[in-house]
Amino acid sequence: MTIDPRPAIRRTLGSPWWLVAVCWTLLAAGVAGAAGEEPAFSRARQEMVERQLRARDITDATVLRVMGKVPRHQFVSRAWIGHAYADRALPIDEGQTISQPYIVALMTQLLELTGTERVLEVGTGSGYQAAVLAEIVREVRTIEILPGLAAAADRRLKELGYATVRVRAGDGYLGWPEAAPFDAIIVTAGATHIPEPLVAQLAEGGRLVIPVGSAPGIQELLQGRKIQGRLVTRVIAPVRFVPLVEPAR
Ligand code: SAH
Repeated sequence: MTIDPRPAIRRTLGSPWWLVAVCWTLLAAGVAGAAGEEPAFSRARQEMVERQLRARDITDATVLRVMGKVPRHQFVSRAWIGHAYADRALPIDEGQTISQPYIVALMTQLLELTGTERVLEVGTGSGYQAAVLAEIVREVRTIEILPGLAAAADRRLKELGYATVRVRAGDGYLGWPEAAPFDAIIVTAGATHIPEPLVAQLAEGGRLVIPVGSAPGIQELLQGRKIQGRLVTRVIAPVRFVPLVEPAR
């Protein structure tokens, strides 16, 4: 004779206790997961600040503070999450990259922000640089030429509470004329030359930070300052960025 187990299963499933047990297990796992994960990420982030930024030449206290705050691991794809705080650029979707933390910090420092500025970024990518800027100033606009990346970054920034960042899909070479002038403009893709529309949209005294180079894959990071209507630049360091795409204009 075989015993039909179904009535017993039905009895168990019929009682609310299994549901309570499943919920409790999931909740406990979730709490443990969050508790186990976050401190590890925040430790890695503090180490990043000390070893990669402070130990080099990042001296701006605000930049050091916000680099220790923005959750970089939320901006990289899951496959790379374990490397989120490593001293290197990482791949993001559509063949693009999120810059090395040191380069993000250096470029932000070169913008010489005090908190009152209106800032434009060209090359949204993951949205990480925009989040760093949004921790410092009240108004950040960012332009990304790949619509898929622009939409993903917009969503991610909103989910993480960076509600003040305005993301536009389009050609950043042309800037954001309706919102000009900007006190600071940062270009996070390698340009062959300084785009004239960006200089035009920079306020007097404003800073432009941009990698420029004629050879593919290698550029010089420039800091420009608009003085009496003209951009005066100085070379900061050799850098390597994905190219600033120049569609037919
Ligand atoms: N700042 C980004 C990384 C930028 S990677 C971050 O924090 O993650 C450079 C980005 O510039 C890429 O996403 C690329 O698609 C974008 N880009 C290239 N040419 C562009 C253009 N003409 N206008 C706007 N974005 C451009």
